[in-house]
This record gives sequence, C-alpha cells and structure tokens, in this order.
Amino acid sequence: MKIGILGGGQLARMLALAGYPLGLDFVVLEPAPDACAAPLAEHIQAAYDDEAALEQLAQTTERVTYEFESVPASAVEQLNESLSVYPPANALSTARDRNNEKNLFRELGIETAPFAEVHDLAGLEQAVSKVGLPAILKTRTLGYDGKGQQVIRPGDDLEVAWRSIGRVPAILEGFVAFDREVSIIAVRSLSGELAFYPLAENVHQEGILRVSTCLRQDSHQTLAEDYARRVLEKLDYVGVLALEFFQVGEHLLANEMAPRVHNSGHWTLEGAETSQFENHLRAILGLPLGSTAPLGHAAMVNLIGDMPETRSLLALKNAHLHLYGKAPRPGRKIGHVTLREVSADELSAGLSRVHKILE
Ligand code: AMP
Repeated sequence: MKIGILGGGQLARMLALAGYPLGLDFVVLEPAPDACAAPLAEHIQAAYDDEAALEQLAQTTERVTYEFESVPASAVEQLNESLSVYPPANALSTARDRNNEKNLFRELGIETAPFAEVHDLAGLEQAVSKVGLPAILKTRTLGYDGKGQQVIRPGDDLEVAWRSIGRVPAILEGFVAFDREVSIIAVRSLSGELAFYPLAENVHQEGILRVSTCLRQDSHQTLAEDYARRVLEKLDYVGVLALEFFQVGEHLLANEMAPRVHNSGHWTLEGAETSQFENHLRAILGLPLGSTAPLGHAAMVNLIGDMPETRSLLALKNAHLHLYGKAPRPGRKIGHVTLREVSADELSAGLSRVHKILE
C-alpha cells in the first residue's frame, strides 16, 4: 500500500523508515528539491496547493498524512474528495492557529496560561491589561521553534513588539514560570483504540527543543492522558497527537498541540516497544496499535547547526545516531541521538557524555 505524505522533511523520512517493515511505500509532496525524505520515497516536487500535484498524489496513494501543521486547508479539501487524510482536517485547522488551539483547550476544561487575541496595536494594549506582564506575543499562525514570538516585559515599547512580529494577528500569552516543560505523545487509531506514551520532559534553548527525556513514572501522567483523551475524542482524531504542557506544581497548562509525529517523541525510536512513527502509520491504517511501553531509561538529544563528531557518538555503547541527510546550517535540526540505558543514573551519565561531544 502507498501512503502519501505532505512534506518531505525528517518526520516524513522517519515515517517512511518505520513503514517499510510494514510493507508500505511512500510518496511525498514537497516543493524543495533536496527534501530529506526524497531518497526514501517517490518525490512529487511541487507547491502544497498545486492542484495537479495533489491530483497525482490522490491517484497514486491510498491514504495521506502530513508532517507539518501549516498544510493549506484547500489541499486537504481537494485530497479528501478522493481519499482519506489523517489526522482529520478539523485537527489541522485547530492546531494551525494558536487562538483556535487555546480556545479548544479552554472549551475542554484543559488549563492554559492566560491569553488574549490581538488584532492591532490598540488590541495589544488591551491584552496587556488583561493578561499582565511579562507576557509573550505570538503570531497566531506559522510560528515554530520560537519564531514569530516576542517577549514583552514591563516598560517595553508595545509598538516595537507589535512591529517585531510583523503586525499580524496574534495572541498575547502570560509568561509562565514553569517547573518543567513536558509533553505527551498520544495516539488514536481509526477504530478508536487509544494509546499513550510516558510523558517526556523537554528542555528548550532559544525556543528550540534540545533534549527530551522519557519520564517513566511521573505523577502528572494520568492528568496528561486525561487531557490528551479529551482532545482526541473531541476531534474524532486519527493518528499521533503531541500535547505540550508547562508543569507548575500539580498543574499542567497546555501550551500547544501538534497533529503529527513530534520531536519530543523521537526517543520512542529505540526507547519504546513501538515508535511513534510506526504507531502513527498503524493508526491511520486502522491496524492494531503497538505497545507504547518504555524500554529502559531513554532520552533524545537534538543535533542542531553543526555536524558533530559522529565517530565519538557512535563509540557510546547505548547511543543511536539518526542523521536526516540535511546540510548543516546554524539553528537547523540535522539529526538526533537517542540513548537507552538500564537506570536513571546511567542515563544521566550517558547524557553528560553526549553533551561533552557536542560542546
Ligand atoms: P512555542 O512555540 O509556543 O512552543 O514556544 C517555544 C518555547 O518558548 C516553549 O517551549 C517555552 O520554552 C517558551 N515559551 C513559550 N510560551 C511561553 C510562556 N507562555 N511562558 C514561558 N515560556 C514560554
């Protein structure tokens, strides 16, 4: 069976790598000529809203998924005329817009930071009086890895902040003094079967994820699963969903959701019985889900910017290297390392060794 993927980056590449053992083939629609999934899939090189290319994708595949949430709604509508696209279109339209996403959380009784919509400079002033400072101004759409965001502190010039995000529709969000950032990777299959991975603790720098560590028995697991279940069921969701939270004491404040496989779930490649990539494919095909049980103590470290000393990383006995075939460039995710150890202490020693190599 052939699976179509909108987007041909590393997530598409890892979906294909997980799908071949299941007997699947892949076609990616991706405008970039040097897409890193291209060596593993048939590559339709065209814009995501190119009608002829979408028609070709619909003709050659039986099911379509995507690896990023800025897929044009028109593309999904066109594809849905002849086949099924999962996760469903309502998940995409919710996740693509921070305001929709936050409103969904609020509607489902999932806690968030205080937030307010911003349409213009006067609206920003009102939002500041409602939310308070410090706060973060975030574009409603197209923001990722800390892009399209501006922290506003007391005394800052609001006009400068408004200009810095390009004067586009935004939300102002209260700055959360969180204890930790955590995320849950959840999955719901076409048949309604649900599964949840253990929470991951995530460390970001400059808005980019650096390290995710699987939390094997965390006291917030039940609450995170409950929140994820509410979203999955409300959206009649199919596939993997990532929900990111700020943990403050007993509370989990939902920051954002991603209707796709997610960077904070890469540890599952060697750290769980079934990876998030395989479970996403199983889910969208209506196959039984694989076990999400963790294997040992696992973590993932992103390789960002420069190509590291790969020989040294491979010399670490419990490290696994995943390179995406991308040219190094400042701030670019070019691969990751997963670590799986027998104890929490061994994992923390292993992480120190990886960090030393990456220094
Ligand atoms: P986002 O694109 O919303 O995931 O933001 C990227 C990163 O910026 C998050 O993972 C946090 O580390 C930080 N951040 C975003 N929003 C907030 C907030 N309201 N309070 C504190 N830190 C935040």
